[in-house]
Amino acid sequence: MAKRRERGWPVDPDPLPFPVVDNHTHLDAIAPFAAQVTDRVPDDAGNLVEVPIPVPTVAETVARAEAVGVDRMVQVGCDLEAVRWTDELLRGTSPLSSGPPPSTAPSMRPSTAPSTRRSTPPSTALLGAVAIHPNEAVLHALGAHPDASAIEIAADGLTPEPGAVHATSLDDAIAEVAAVAGANPRVRAIGETGMDLFRAGPQGERVQREAFRAHVALAKELGLAMQIHDRDAHAQVLDVLASDGAPEVTVFHCFSGDAEMARFCAEQGWYLSFAGPVSFRANEGLREALREVPLSQVLVETDAPYLTPHPYRGRPNAPYLLPHTVRTVAEVLGVDLERVCRTVSETSERVYGAW
Ligand SMILES: [Zn+2]
Repeated sequence: MAKRRERGWPVDPDPLPFPVVDNHTHLDAIAPFAAQVTDRVPDDAGNLVEVPIPVPTVAETVARAEAVGVDRMVQVGCDLEAVRWTDELLRGTSPLSSGPPPSTAPSMRPSTAPSTRRSTPPSTALLGAVAIHPNEAVLHALGAHPDASAIEIAADGLTPEPGAVHATSLDDAIAEVAAVAGANPRVRAIGETGMDLFRAGPQGERVQREAFRAHVALAKELGLAMQIHDRDAHAQVLDVLASDGAPEVTVFHCFSGDAEMARFCAEQGWYLSFAGPVSFRANEGLREALREVPLSQVLVETDAPYLTPHPYRGRPNAPYLLPHTVRTVAEVLGVDLERVCRTVSETSERVYGAW
């Protein structure tokens, strides 16, 4: 008989003693992600059968997080469709449901068919960040200029596949980000932007660098915070920040550098956001990095639906699982949990403004 390996939603953690902010989450991606996941559960005869896991609406996801003390979050829309979705969500013109009709949260439950757009009051739990992700930037560059010679396989071994949305040029895509960020008062950051050399070869790297520079300029122009995506690109990211100058408020989302880089970033006054990987057993280097950062520059995030914290690695992630990461941060720093929560909460409001 096949082995039972849980793949469904983890149980709710104990609530935090003081509410915190998930400063980087992808609400747009949680439902589509969950819709792909099946769990193996025993049927009446004791045989394991594949069953789909629940697909939560945005309202349900937000409510579940609030119940454990994650009462504010930054929704990150980092491809062109997610930028538009995030804009609508924050304006309250989005369905607040990217899945089947909600079974709970009746106050936000639509009275019309779930597929129709309707006005919903914007959730006060949500602020937003928008950008064209570095890997999306490469796809826009390819999609707008179809040329087989431009397709290169990077360290990830995957062939980049531009979709219909990538027929929009990179310049036009970034211009749309600028328009949304400039017009929606609940968009408080440009991100995630940066470089990803796991997903890009030399040509992609050039595209990413220019896209990153454009986002740096945009964050400065609009006076917004910037959230950086840095995957296998520490030197390249720091190089752009050194040559162009970092925006006044700069956050390394899912910080992945070592202790020396953490110290350097902290000295620049930047913020370091820690996600699930800080709790992975093998990541002692990341915990060493965390110890280099003053608590007042530490942020926490889920990056949901990805990077689920220990002990639920490999299962779907959502903001209600952030308390695991917050508890890890408190343990690693040897600081009282409530003090970590209060400080992270204050820092988040300093970085993004009031919710
Ligand atoms: Zn992310």
